[in-house]
Amino acid sequence: MNFAWDQPAPERKGRPNAFGLTPEDLESLGCPGRSQHVFSQLQRQWQWIEEHPFLSKEVRYWLEDHTDLSLPILSQALHSEDGSTKCILSLNDGELIEVVHMPREVKTSRVTLCISSQVGCAMGCTFCATGAMGIKRNLESGEIVGQVLLLMKTLGPKTPDHLTLVFMGMGEPLHNLMNVHKAIQILSHSHGLNISPKRITVSTSGLVSGIERLARMTPRPLLAISLNATTDEVRSSSMPINRAYNLSQLRHALDSWILKTNEKLTFEYVLMRGVNDSYLDAHRLSEWLGELRHQHNVNLIPMNEHRASDQKEPSRESLEIFSRTLRDLGCFVTVRKSRGRDIQAACGQLIRNL
Ligand code: SF4
Repeated sequence: MNFAWDQPAPERKGRPNAFGLTPEDLESLGCPGRSQHVFSQLQRQWQWIEEHPFLSKEVRYWLEDHTDLSLPILSQALHSEDGSTKCILSLNDGELIEVVHMPREVKTSRVTLCISSQVGCAMGCTFCATGAMGIKRNLESGEIVGQVLLLMKTLGPKTPDHLTLVFMGMGEPLHNLMNVHKAIQILSHSHGLNISPKRITVSTSGLVSGIERLARMTPRPLLAISLNATTDEVRSSSMPINRAYNLSQLRHALDSWILKTNEKLTFEYVLMRGVNDSYLDAHRLSEWLGELRHQHNVNLIPMNEHRASDQKEPSRESLEIFSRTLRDLGCFVTVRKSRGRDIQAACGQLIRNL
């Protein structure tokens, strides 16, 4: 059987985006000046003067001639009553993506950015609005980095020390692994934003081949698994990836992810009424986690209803029984309050052009 994610997604054509180039790339492309300084200026937008990096004319002309120097453009910002903001960004070929800016609820300057890795998504999860769009193309590494730079510039924080990044926006990051990994390399570079890989989480629907590849890469971000079912039958009907890699193969792949000291995995579980929210599901989930349940986090997320899916939010009672059963079985459970529901920015609600 052929699946949409077996094929690489289309890439944007044209000059490379300057914000996705490492110092080594700049040097090999023949950039004049010290490549580390040029890289550092491109990435540290808080040091820019009048919205431009502080670089010599020679370097600026070279960048204009050889690279695409455009950041995504903020075309719309929707503010939620809970403090989060959904930003619709326009890319230079006119495609639109969405990013969510979520300040911590308690008054600190800490911010989580939920960023996108693709325009649309090939994985087709039935509860997800992005999945209903299909895949348009991969984001290149500069467009991924550009989301962070643009949001820092417009909504803050002004320095990266208080920033956490999650690849939970549009797209399956492991279906665009090379660009996503290069973006992580750049975002964590000591001459750039220097964001620790421990503050970057990649969330996957269970693309086992990608998990195995990412497990061996450096720098390695944290991993989150979007699980959402406890039987192959139910998972295959809501997450087509399960037809290629079933629950047992997915669980086995996690054993190849050799955990570093204090590293935690996250399991995301969207609870859908009458689909995966029973007492038996809670037991099966705990069994599937096995030893992992004692150290790692299960995030329960009540379904965010939207017009692209028939799935419904669970009742308060079943959410309560589900979370209590998991806790009684020794799991670490958090019931996640979705941010930005009123502006369609919550989990599974990011969408354009439907
Ligand atoms: S849940 Fe994630 S992987 Fe599934 S369709 Fe939506 S964006 Fe793609």
